[in-house]
Amino acid sequence: MASVSVSNTLTQGFAKLDELDPVLSSYLQAEHVRQSNTLSLVASSGGTDASVLAASAATIVNVTAEGYPGARYHSGCQYVDKVEALAIERAKTLFGASYANVQPHCASAANHIVMHAVLQPGDVILGMNLDEGGHLTHGAKVNVSGQLYTSYQYGLDAQERIDFAQVERLALAHRPKLIVCGTTSYSRHIDFKEFRRIADLVGAYLLADVTHIAGLVAAGEHESPVPYVDFTTMCTFKQLFGPRGGLILMGESMNKLAPDNKTPLYRAIQKSVFPTMQGSPATSIIAAKARIFDHLQSAEFKALAQRIKANATTLSNSLKAMGYDLVTGGTDNHIVLFRLPEHLPGYAVQQALDDCQIMVNKNRVPGDVRSPMIASGIRLGSNTVSLRNMGQYEMEQCAEMIHSIISSVQCVNDKEYELDPALRARVIENVESICRDFPLPYAK
Ligand SMILES: *Cc1c(COP(=O)(O)O)cnc(C)c1O
Repeated sequence: MASVSVSNTLTQGFAKLDELDPVLSSYLQAEHVRQSNTLSLVASSGGTDASVLAASAATIVNVTAEGYPGARYHSGCQYVDKVEALAIERAKTLFGASYANVQPHCASAANHIVMHAVLQPGDVILGMNLDEGGHLTHGAKVNVSGQLYTSYQYGLDAQERIDFAQVERLALAHRPKLIVCGTTSYSRHIDFKEFRRIADLVGAYLLADVTHIAGLVAAGEHESPVPYVDFTTMCTFKQLFGPRGGLILMGESMNKLAPDNKTPLYRAIQKSVFPTMQGSPATSIIAAKARIFDHLQSAEFKALAQRIKANATTLSNSLKAMGYDLVTGGTDNHIVLFRLPEHLPGYAVQQALDDCQIMVNKNRVPGDVRSPMIASGIRLGSNTVSLRNMGQYEMEQCAEMIHSIISSVQCVNDKEYELDPALRARVIENVESICRDFPLPYAK
C-alpha cells in the first residue's frame, strides 16, 4: 500500500488554498489575525486548539455514514464507526451520562430533535423567555419551537433570578408535556433539582440546554443536570472549545418511556436524530468532538474552568466598584450582564468597543425599553480570555478599558457614536499588548 499521511493533506491544503484561491485565503488569514489581536469578551465565544482543527479537517469527512456505529446504510464505515464510538464513550464518561448522541449538527438541532421525539404539533411546552435569558429554540414565537408547539414562557423574579414560583404556576395552569431550562444570558447557578420537582408535579419531560455552561458542568464547576433531567443538550463550540456541533445526553432517563408508552426514550432520540431530522452525520466534526471530549477530562481543563469563573468574578467586581448596575448583582459562572447608563444604547456602545478591538454583546436587560437589536445592556463572558491564560490583572484592565470608553463615548443615535481618537488609540495599544502576551492556543 502506498504510504499516505493525513497530516500532509492539511499542510498541502493551505498551500493550495493560497495558490488557487488567494481571495478566500486572504479573508481566512485576516480573520485569524483579527482573532489574535482582539479581546473577545463575547459570552458565547470559545476557541479551538490545533488538534481540534486538524480532526475537523481530516479526510474522514469524505465518508457518507447514515445510521449508527455497527448499523450503517453505507460501506466503508469501519473507521467512522470507531471514531463515533470513541466520541460517544468519551462524552458519557465526561458527563457521567448513560447515553450520548454525538450526531446533532448544533444545539438548536439537538433541541428540535428532543422536542420532535416527545411532542406532537400543538403540544404544550414551557421554556424561558428570550428577553430574560432563554434561547430562541426554547419556544420563542420567531422560532419553529414556538410555532409548532403551544409555548408558554417564564422569566425572572424581582431579584432577577429564575422565577420558580412563576414556573410552577404556569406548569400547573398549562400542564406542559415538556419543560425547557437553560439560558443564554443568566449569570447565576441553575437549580435543576427544582425544575425536576416542578416537572414531576405535572408529569412533564424535562430538557436542560446547558450550552452556555457546558464547560463548567464538564469540569464539575456547575452542578450537572444529567441526574435530574430527561435530556441534556448543548453545542460543542462555545464553552467546550470544540468544533461546531451539538450533543444530546441522558442519564437513567434513557429507559423511561416515550409518550407512546412503548418506546424507551433513548430509542426515540436515536430515531429522531436519524432518519427523522438529519441524514449523514458530520464525520470529521464527530472526530473533533472525540478529541475535545478527551481534553475536557484533563486537569488542565479543570483549571481553565476555575479560571473562567474567577475571571468573571473579577470583571463583575471591578465593574460594580465603578458603579455599574449588574443584573442579579453578580455572577456564579462566566457571564457578566450589566445595564448601561440610561442615555447609552447598547448597539452603539458595542460598536465603540468593537472599534477598540474589544468584542462584547449588546443584550437586553430585565425591563428593557429598547428593541432587541439596540438593547440597554452589555453581556460579557470570560471563556476566551481565560483560554488565553489571562488572569485577575488583565480582567481589571478589561474593566477599566470598557469603563473608559463607556464614560466618554457620545452616541449620535442608537447606532452611531463619537469617541476621542486619542482614547481609541490608547485602548487599542493596550489591547494589542495584552493579546501579544496571551496568544490564542493555535498562535503559540
Ligand atoms: C448558542 C445557544 C444555542 C444555539 O446553539 P447552536 O449550536 O448555534 O445551534 C442553543 N441554546 C443555547 C442556550 C445557546 O446559548
